[in-house]
Amino acid sequence: MKAAVLEHPLTISIKSLERPVPNAGEVLIKITAVGLCGSDVHYYEHGKIGRFVVEKPIILGHEAAGEIVGIGEGVTSLSVGQRVAIEPGMTCGECEFCRDGTYNLCSEVEFLATPPYDGAFCEYVTMREEVVYPIPDSMSDETAALIEPFSVGLHAVRRGTLTEGETVIIMGMGPIGLMAAANARLAGASMIVAVDLEEKRLDMARQFGATHTVNLREGKLEEELAHITDGRGVDLALETAGHPDALRQAIQAVRRGGRVVIVGLPPVDEVSLPVPYMVDSELKLIGVFRYHHTYPDAIKLLSDGKVDITQMITGKYSLEETGAAFQAAIHDKANTLKMMIYPG
Ligand SMILES: [Zn+2]
Ligand SMILES: [Zn+2]
Repeated sequence: MKAAVLEHPLTISIKSLERPVPNAGEVLIKITAVGLCGSDVHYYEHGKIGRFVVEKPIILGHEAAGEIVGIGEGVTSLSVGQRVAIEPGMTCGECEFCRDGTYNLCSEVEFLATPPYDGAFCEYVTMREEVVYPIPDSMSDETAALIEPFSVGLHAVRRGTLTEGETVIIMGMGPIGLMAAANARLAGASMIVAVDLEEKRLDMARQFGATHTVNLREGKLEEELAHITDGRGVDLALETAGHPDALRQAIQAVRRGGRVVIVGLPPVDEVSLPVPYMVDSELKLIGVFRYHHTYPDAIKLLSDGKVDITQMITGKYSLEETGAAFQAAIHDKANTLKMMIYPG
């Protein structure tokens, strides 16, 4: 099979590799569409994210959809010909987190495109049956692939315990911010304030459910927010920008007793925070790492087409053009949101 292999930082070659064979409990999937994620770009440029370091050539890509073309021994819930969305993490199933349902915290997880595990910028992958979810005929391959970043937004909204009628601010309108907005809307938020520096991204935010937008280049967030919330602040802030200033602004934006969910990773190990203020206002600060139990609900939420998450796709590439997709993501940040690779 053909695969786009990251050989060194900034160097991807198309290689011919052995087609994988499904073991017992696994299925063989022909990949149809894969999204390019910020984490892929980070590995491509810098060769590592935190404790995860690329030490040998790796296939990137973890936002994947495909069609089942082979079945391993003992697989009962899936069959050849089904179109599927792939949840990219295979967990140990035995640790305390796997047992209590927070399997996103499993330290033994094998996650696509997280070193040393290969991803899906290739023609075929094998996955364990339990992380492969059939999708309805009406769902596009692109939507199925984007269930992965959509899941991050869904998990963030769940961690923030967003209930119908509540008000939300979302810092950063990259793909994850947009997915958070879509999920806030689906959860029934009465006000969704989207914040970014790029007008194009704020335009997109309105398509994803934002009721208000603030361009930090133009307005002062504090004043704008005081105006639209009558000085109360919002119930929930979702920080997806991964910037220390955005986190501090999120903390200032919520009401007394409000919640702040941190989704974006700041590029530094420590960030200073206004702790006396946070204690005085009984803020809840909540971390988010990937997601758990989101795929079945995400498939249901996206099946009726009410929210079209494929609007964020700004470029389509063949497997051979994977390197060009990375280059575009790096050099044209203002005009690119989500690139799709089509190995099929
Ligand atoms: Zn991703
Ligand atoms: Zn585990």
